[in-house]
Amino acid sequence: MRQYQRGREEQAAPKPFAFVPLPERVNRNRPTGHDKYHSNHISGQIRGTIQALSPIHIGSGIIDIGDDVELIKTAVKTGGNIVLPGSSLKGAVRSVVEAISGSCVSKVSSQVRRAVPKGFAECRQKDNLCVACRMFGAMGFQGNISIQDAPKTTGDIKTEHVPELYAPGRGQRRMRDVPGRKFYKHGEVATGSTPVEACQEDSTFSLVLQVDNLTQSEWGLLFTALGHHPQHSFKLKIGGAKPVCFGSIDIQIDEIQVQEQTRSRYLNWDVAQDAVKAGDDMATWIQMCIAAAETDSLIQQDLLSQLAEILKYPNDRNCPTGLY
Ligand SMILES: [Zn+2]
Repeated sequence: MRQYQRGREEQAAPKPFAFVPLPERVNRNRPTGHDKYHSNHISGQIRGTIQALSPIHIGSGIIDIGDDVELIKTAVKTGGNIVLPGSSLKGAVRSVVEAISGSCVSKVSSQVRRAVPKGFAECRQKDNLCVACRMFGAMGFQGNISIQDAPKTTGDIKTEHVPELYAPGRGQRRMRDVPGRKFYKHGEVATGSTPVEACQEDSTFSLVLQVDNLTQSEWGLLFTALGHHPQHSFKLKIGGAKPVCFGSIDIQIDEIQVQEQTRSRYLNWDVAQDAVKAGDDMATWIQMCIAAAETDSLIQQDLLSQLAEILKYPNDRNCPTGLY
């Protein structure tokens, strides 16, 4: 009732999110197994640094700022240290991979799932998977990418104050057609009176991302999803309070360790070089992988450019302080 009454008095702010349309179709293939050596596949480890561009709130359970959430939510701690959970990071990267490729609609609420068009539903046959399911896993298939919990290396936990947000009739409207995949924009953080525990802006976290048996194109799709495409760069969002502009992150890649067995034969690298890539050498390889993903049409350019526009950073818009 309170939402309804207040909603009539206030003028709604522009929506803090936008949709990337679904691809024309989902392209499914047999996944690459974990158990054997694949000549044109590359395994390795990405090490990087995540920087908070706005405060980050990672709570457990339902993440929303509404009328009936608990007032102070605590950041996830492992052994006393604050971490960005690997599962949250993986979810954020996966949602971008899904949006810019011919992938299914996975990990959505039951309400949304009912409105997903035929053919776009989450992959269910483990020998016939879209690229996002092949890379990040599906029912009965482990996936080729794993991300560890990222421990905080600098920055403090602070209590930030955010507005209570609400949209009229949210959760009640029946969805007929999914308008696409929803992404929250970056912008100026909105302040209000609801306390939320968050990692302060400029906090840093240590990222370790393990890649098992991906093609060079799939590595390119991954780098693009991390925001490293030369023409369509963007920043990701993670955690709660996204509508008020929390959770903007920069993912910097510091070095890539490529497993010895595949290195010299399939990447045309100098055998004498170290298996750890860094600096210009690494940057060149990242761009080679991205170019391969474009050549193979693994990246859908129109979807990528739309996503990059939604997730552009910096963005001087203000996040809503009330009804949207
Ligand atoms: Zn899928």
